Amino acid sequence: MDALESATARGLMRGRGDDMPGRRYTPREMLDRLVGFDTTSRNSNLALIAFVADYLASHGVEVALTHDDARAKANLYATLGPNGGGGIALSGHTDVVPVDGQPWTSDPFAVVERDGRLHGRGTADMKSFIAVALALVPDFLAAPLAVPVHLALSYDEEVGCLGVDRLIEGIEQSGTRPAIVIVGEPTSMRVVNAHKGIYSFATTLTGHEAHSSAPHIGVNAVMAAAKLIGFLDRMAAEMRDRAAPESGFTPPYTTVHVGTIAGGTALNIIPRHCSFEWEYRLMPGADPDEIRDRFDAFAAEVEARMKAVSPDAGIRTEARSRVAGLEPERDPLAERLVMALTGDNRAAKVSFGTEAGKFQNAGMSVVVCGPGDIAQAHKPDEFIAISQIEACAAFMRRLIERLETPL
Ligand SMILES: [Zn+2]
Repeated sequence: MDALESATARGLMRGRGDDMPGRRYTPREMLDRLVGFDTTSRNSNLALIAFVADYLASHGVEVALTHDDARAKANLYATLGPNGGGGIALSGHTDVVPVDGQPWTSDPFAVVERDGRLHGRGTADMKSFIAVALALVPDFLAAPLAVPVHLALSYDEEVGCLGVDRLIEGIEQSGTRPAIVIVGEPTSMRVVNAHKGIYSFATTLTGHEAHSSAPHIGVNAVMAAAKLIGFLDRMAAEMRDRAAPESGFTPPYTTVHVGTIAGGTALNIIPRHCSFEWEYRLMPGADPDEIRDRFDAFAAEVEARMKAVSPDAGIRTEARSRVAGLEPERDPLAERLVMALTGDNRAAKVSFGTEAGKFQNAGMSVVVCGPGDIAQAHKPDEFIAISQIEACAAFMRRLIERLETPL
């Protein structure tokens, strides 16, 4: 099957079957295609991945896929230029956040141009970077690259950077680990070398019902939860006391936060159930397990007192996401290279999490640098300025030229 047949036969294409083998796309045309796939994290991303795989195949590029357990989602990894490891990876997530309940003025899954801006879900976060990289594949292939350029597309970033672990595993197994990774999250094409880590949890408490007039025979799940939340509040204060004002972060310390709570059924019943969600946003370099470990130790004390009254009482905490922070590097290979290409003379820090820390923990040199502004991400009428797409394309062309000599 050729690219056209395989894609249309699987019913994956939006619009007409106009994808001739070896077809070239402008970044704008490629963005139209990518936004057309509704890759909200709860959905499969396989249609988008199949489109990209077919497009790359039509240019003679093989892809390697790694799937989630249900085989409903896939990461894609492909190498342009010389085979093997080293070189540069251009990395992006294929999923987007939901549009539910948001007042969009046009179809979120069709790119609409207004006043020099392209509107659509994922235009800023982060299909434009992927679109530019893909549109320039023929240019990468035509250039006498001295080192490989890898394309690394992940699933499930928006729900806690869950998919990229398998992408990195696949890279390790294939022996094609890049030296440098550029994560193209929207930074308005500025070079970012640090962000906090995000660790989130759901804690569920089970108490024991009784009439509210008889608290001595019941276990109050809401009041036990209040003790745990009080503990987190004290941890928050302790982290504030460890502030590092020179770090450049706002605020310059690890933050601890409880975001939701639900519990109890009626005022005259001692509540059996309470649950709350909480997170900490960790300064790069801080121990990622300290807060969780100390919380668990405190929760074990509270739980022992609950079980002394009723053995069916208990506390359970589940980890939701674990997004490693990105730390400035001692030998910042990625930062030096990308700053030379963008003309930045200082790297910035951002407050949002990305997959960059996971690549860094796997031994790659990483920066975040991509088109668009994070301020427009996740919102109704999300957009990217066309000038940002042009800036990204110009950056990629400089990158191609640079990679004609070894790193
Ligand atoms: Zn993103």
